[in-house]
Amino acid sequence: MAESIYLVTVGVNEELAQIRSNRFLVELRCDEHTRLDDGDREATACEIAKDAVKQLYPIAGPIGYTEANRLTESLRADPGKEDYTATCGACRVWLVLP
Ligand SMILES: [Zn+2]
Repeated sequence: MAESIYLVTVGVNEELAQIRSNRFLVELRCDEHTRLDDGDREATACEIAKDAVKQLYPIAGPIGYTEANRLTESLRADPGKEDYTATCGACRVWLVLP
Protein backbone atom coordinates (compact mmCIF):
# COMPACT_ATOMS: atom_id res chain seq x y z
CA MET A 1 0.00 0.00 0.00
CA ALA A 2 2.91 2.35 0.63
CA GLU A 3 3.24 3.19 -3.04
CA SER A 4 -0.17 4.83 -3.04
CA ILE A 5 0.37 7.13 -0.08
CA TYR A 6 1.58 10.68 -0.62
CA LEU A 7 2.64 13.39 1.75
CA VAL A 8 1.21 16.56 0.27
CA THR A 9 2.18 20.08 1.33
CA VAL A 10 -0.32 22.81 0.52
CA GLY A 11 0.37 26.53 0.82
CA VAL A 12 -0.45 29.94 -0.56
CA ASN A 13 2.79 29.98 -2.53
CA GLU A 14 6.15 28.29 -2.42
CA GLU A 15 7.81 30.93 -0.25
CA LEU A 16 5.06 31.01 2.36
CA ALA A 17 4.77 27.23 2.34
CA GLN A 18 8.19 27.12 4.02
CA ILE A 19 6.75 29.02 6.98
CA ARG A 20 3.11 28.16 7.03
CA SER A 21 1.52 25.27 5.25
CA ASN A 22 -0.81 22.37 5.74
CA ARG A 23 0.38 18.86 5.28
CA PHE A 24 -1.74 15.88 4.48
CA LEU A 25 -1.35 12.20 3.98
CA VAL A 26 -3.30 11.21 0.91
CA GLU A 27 -3.96 7.55 0.28
CA LEU A 28 -5.13 6.64 -3.20
CA ARG A 29 -7.21 3.49 -2.99
CA CYS A 30 -9.87 3.50 -5.69
CA ASP A 31 -9.32 1.74 -9.02
CA GLU A 32 -9.68 4.93 -10.99
CA HIS A 33 -6.91 6.70 -9.10
CA THR A 34 -4.50 3.82 -8.41
CA ARG A 35 -4.51 2.96 -12.12
CA LEU A 36 -3.00 6.32 -13.07
CA ASP A 37 0.68 6.63 -13.88
CA ASP A 38 3.08 8.17 -11.35
CA GLY A 39 2.80 11.79 -12.45
CA ASP A 40 -0.97 11.70 -12.62
CA ARG A 41 -1.19 10.05 -9.24
CA GLU A 42 0.90 12.83 -7.75
CA ALA A 43 -1.28 15.44 -9.41
CA THR A 44 -4.39 13.67 -8.16
CA ALA A 45 -3.00 13.54 -4.61
CA CYS A 46 -2.47 17.32 -4.81
CA GLU A 47 -6.00 17.92 -6.09
CA ILE A 48 -7.50 15.80 -3.33
CA ALA A 49 -5.42 17.67 -0.73
CA LYS A 50 -6.71 20.99 -2.10
CA ASP A 51 -10.27 19.72 -1.80
CA ALA A 52 -9.50 18.67 1.76
CA VAL A 53 -8.30 22.20 2.59
CA LYS A 54 -11.49 23.72 1.20
CA GLN A 55 -13.56 21.29 3.23
CA LEU A 56 -11.61 21.50 6.49
CA TYR A 57 -10.73 25.20 6.32
CA PRO A 58 -13.55 26.95 4.47
CA ILE A 59 -11.97 30.37 5.03
CA ALA A 60 -8.62 29.35 3.57
CA GLY A 61 -7.43 31.63 0.80
CA PRO A 62 -6.18 30.69 -2.63
CA ILE A 63 -3.81 27.77 -2.90
CA GLY A 64 -0.88 28.49 -5.14
CA TYR A 65 1.49 25.76 -4.09
CA THR A 66 1.22 22.02 -3.71
CA GLU A 67 3.94 19.46 -3.49
CA ALA A 68 3.44 15.71 -3.28
CA ASN A 69 6.04 13.23 -2.14
CA ARG A 70 5.35 9.56 -2.36
CA LEU A 71 6.00 7.69 0.87
CA THR A 72 8.44 4.91 0.35
CA GLU A 73 7.70 3.17 3.63
CA SER A 74 4.48 1.89 5.00
CA LEU A 75 2.87 3.93 7.73
CA ARG A 76 4.27 3.04 11.12
CA ALA A 77 0.89 3.18 12.74
CA ASP A 78 -2.67 3.02 11.57
CA PRO A 79 -3.62 6.65 11.01
CA GLY A 80 -7.16 5.97 12.22
CA LYS A 81 -10.25 7.59 10.88
CA GLU A 82 -9.58 9.87 7.94
CA ASP A 83 -10.16 13.62 8.18
CA TYR A 84 -11.50 13.87 4.66
CA THR A 85 -12.76 11.47 2.03
CA ALA A 86 -12.20 12.37 -1.62
CA THR A 87 -15.15 12.89 -3.92
CA CYS A 88 -14.53 9.45 -5.42
CA GLY A 89 -15.64 8.10 -2.05
CA ALA A 90 -12.64 5.85 -1.50
CA CYS A 91 -9.41 7.83 -1.37
CA ARG A 92 -8.61 9.10 2.08
CA VAL A 93 -6.86 12.11 3.59
CA TRP A 94 -5.38 12.67 7.01
CA LEU A 95 -4.25 15.98 8.36
CA VAL A 96 -0.62 15.83 9.48
CA LEU A 97 -0.19 17.80 12.66
CA PRO A 98 3.10 19.69 12.96
ZN1 LIG B 1 -10.05 7.85 -5.62
